[in-house]
Amino acid sequence: MSAKIRLYVEHPLGAGQSLPLDRDQAHYLFGVMRLSAGSQVLLFNGTDGEWLADVTEAKKRAGVLTCVEQTKPLQMPPDLWLLFAPIKKARTDFIVEKAAEMGAAQILPVQTEFTNSERIRQDRLQSHAVEAAEQCGGTYVPEVGDLQKLGRLLDHWPEDRQLMFCDEAEVGNALELAAGAHGDAPWAILIGPEGGFSEVERKRLHALPYSHVVSLGPRILRADTAAVAAMTLWQQALGDW
Ligand code: SAM
Repeated sequence: MSAKIRLYVEHPLGAGQSLPLDRDQAHYLFGVMRLSAGSQVLLFNGTDGEWLADVTEAKKRAGVLTCVEQTKPLQMPPDLWLLFAPIKKARTDFIVEKAAEMGAAQILPVQTEFTNSERIRQDRLQSHAVEAAEQCGGTYVPEVGDLQKLGRLLDHWPEDRQLMFCDEAEVGNALELAAGAHGDAPWAILIGPEGGFSEVERKRLHALPYSHVVSLGPRILRADTAAVAAMTLWQQALGDW
């Protein structure tokens, strides 16, 4: 029987390794997906690659899986952070899901001067990243950070990390990410909120030595569209596509 369900687990994986399922996982596998003892699933934990596992015990609220063989090695994404200012709930969820699918290593919500929301549910966003990794065949789950002030993050910025600053004020100026430039460096992409960046923020971001100002074309994109477009450009020029 071919194993289709992929499950992220927080447990070491290796040949013959058994692992217990928590209540939610057991409910999902046995209650929702109707698996039973003898079924097989694919597991990953973000460090040990992907493993085929047998269901060795299936109860309503618990269960045990046993690893059979590795089906994929761990594949790390490029060292790319996505910084974005949270917007409305569904659109923020979309950004996290797409960032995980497209190969961000870390997803960092930042509060800018014009950020619409002052609070995020980090745990909920993290589970969106897990679900996206389960669905897209990834073996790595990007960490979603807590909301932090953009200014403070820039105060402690690692100087070798390049920043692709997507500036809506550059609409119409053909600014491109130079393919290959700083290809070996760690990178970050910055997407602003619905209200865009303030003049003070823009001035600071333009002056940073590691900042690369980029236009995403002649139209102003919504932040969720901009995040996907920016990641596509970055992956095409410098990433693992
Ligand atoms: N309220 C802003 C305005 O009207 O100028 C628009 C902000 S836009 C909805 C949200 C974010 O997406 C921007 O801060 C920027 O990071 C990014 N963005 C959208 N369109 C862009 C473009 N054409 N070029 C560069 N960045 C863009």
